[in-house]
Amino acid sequence: MQNPIWFDPTLCLIGGDWVATEDTLDLTNPSDGTLLCRIARGGVPQIDAAVQAAQAALDGDWGRMTALERGRILTRLGQLVQDRIEELALLEALDVGKPLTQARADALALARYCEFYGGAADKVMGETIPYLDGYTVYTLREPHGVTGHIVPWNYPMQIIGRSVGAALAMGNACVLKPAEEACLTALAFAHLATDAGLPPGALNVVSGIGAEAGAALSGHPGVNHISFTGSVATGALVQQAAGANAVPVTLELGGKSPQLVFDDADLEVALPFLVNAGIQNAGQTCSAGSRVLVQRGVYAEVKARMAAAYADLTVGPATEDLRVGPLISDRQKQIVTGFLAQGGDLEIAAQGRIVDHAPTGGAYVRPTLFGDVPPDHPLAQKEIFGPVQVLIPFDTEEQAIQIANGTDYGLVAGVWTRDGARQMRLAKRLRAGQVFINNYGAGGGVELPFGGVGKSGHGREKGFEALYGFSQLKTVAAHHG
Ligand code: NAD
Repeated sequence: MQNPIWFDPTLCLIGGDWVATEDTLDLTNPSDGTLLCRIARGGVPQIDAAVQAAQAALDGDWGRMTALERGRILTRLGQLVQDRIEELALLEALDVGKPLTQARADALALARYCEFYGGAADKVMGETIPYLDGYTVYTLREPHGVTGHIVPWNYPMQIIGRSVGAALAMGNACVLKPAEEACLTALAFAHLATDAGLPPGALNVVSGIGAEAGAALSGHPGVNHISFTGSVATGALVQQAAGANAVPVTLELGGKSPQLVFDDADLEVALPFLVNAGIQNAGQTCSAGSRVLVQRGVYAEVKARMAAAYADLTVGPATEDLRVGPLISDRQKQIVTGFLAQGGDLEIAAQGRIVDHAPTGGAYVRPTLFGDVPPDHPLAQKEIFGPVQVLIPFDTEEQAIQIANGTDYGLVAGVWTRDGARQMRLAKRLRAGQVFINNYGAGGGVELPFGGVGKSGHGREKGFEALYGFSQLKTVAAHHG
C-alpha cells in the first residue's frame, strides 16, 4: 500500500510555516499496535508562537477580511475535503481504528461543516434595540480573537469541523491542539485549509501531549476563548486554567445517554438504532446511547432482539470495515475490561465476536450487552467509552424519567414511543442537550445545536448556535438628539 500519510506529520503549522519540534511522539495504529508514524511534540514554545501568529493574523489580512470572503474560503475548504474523502477516511481509520464506513461519514461531516459555516459566515446579524428618544442602539457580533481548540481522539474530523469551522466563520484565529493519540486528520485539514487560501496564522495546529501543549494553550493569557472536548476531569482543569485569565470556555464532555423504549414503540425501526448507538466507533462516542431503558411489556422482546444483533457483531481491523473496530489504545482496553469485570454477577445477554485473524497487538474487546442492570450499578452510571450497553427495565413513564435523569450527565436522550403527548412530555422533562424522538442522533446533524447539561458540559456547538458561542456581542448606543 502506498504511504497514506501524504504530509510530514512531525511538523506543526504555526503562522503559515510547517515547523519541527525538538522531540517527537509515537503514533500507534490501534488495529495492530504497530508504529504508524511520529508526530511533533509541541509544548510551551510552540503554543506561545502559535498564539502570537494567530494574533498577528487578526491584526493583518485575516482580521480585515469580510465575512463573505471568510465564507468563501471555508466553502472552498469544504470542497477540498470533499475531494479527498477517501484519503481522509483512510487516515482516520489507521489513526483512530475507526471502521472505514464510519471514518468516511466523519470526513463527509467535516466537508459539510465547512460548507455550512462557509454559507453562514455572512448571515450572522446584530439587532436594533428600541431605546430612549434621540438614540439609535444596535448590536454587533464580533470574534473573540484568538480561540483555542482542544480536541479528543474519538471524532477528530467532526469536532474540528464543528469548532474550528464555526470559529473561523466568525473571524477568530484558531490554535488547534489535537489529541496525542490521533492527530493525522487535523494535520491533513490544516494542509487543505492552506490550499483553500486561509491566510497564515488564521489556523495554527500544534500536536502534543495534553499536560504540555494542552495545558499551555488553556492557560495562555493571549487566548480569548477555549473550546474543549474531552473528559470531565480534563475539562475541569482547562476551565480552571482559563479562569485564571478570565477566558470563557465551552466544555463538551462525556455522557451516559439513555434510550427510552416504551411498549408502543415501533421496534422494527428502533432496533438498529438501539444497537448502533452503543457500538458506533466501538462505543467511544460521547453521545453513545449506552443505557437502554425498556418498558416491561416489550422488555423480553427487546432483550432477545438486541442480543441476536450483538451475537452477529464482528470486531476486527479498521480497514476491514467490520461493524466494530479496535479501541483507541491498550490503555482504553484496560479501562473497558476493568468495567466489564465490574459486571460481576450481572447477566451478560450477549457478546460480539473478535475475528480470529485480528492482530494480537490490536486493542480489541468484545461488544457486551448486559441485561437487567440496576439503575444505580456502576455500569449504569459511569461512562465506559467502549462497546458496552446496559438494559434497564422500567414500569411507568415517571419511573423511566427518574432513571433517565439519574446520572451526573445530560448530553443526549432518545425516546421511542408512538404516543405524541408522551413524546412532548419527555422532550421537556429529560435532562439533556438533545432529545431524539423515534430516532437517535438524527444522522449526525451538523445543523443541530449540541452540548450538555450537568457533567456533560456547557455551551453549544454545531448549527447556527455555535456562531453565537464563537462571537461576542457589542452594544452601540448612539445619541443623535
Ligand atoms: P481527555 O480529556 O483525556 O483529552 C482530550 C484532549 O484534552 C486531548 O487533546 C488531550 O491531549 C487534552 N488534554 C489532556 N490533558 C490536558 C490538560 N491538562 N490540559 C489541557 N488539555 C489536556 O479525553 P479523551 O480521553 O481523549 O476523550 C474522551 C472523553 O471525551 C470522553 O469522556 C468523551 O465523552 C469526551 N467527548 C465528548 C464529546 C462531546 O462533544 N461532548 C465528544 C467527544 C468526546
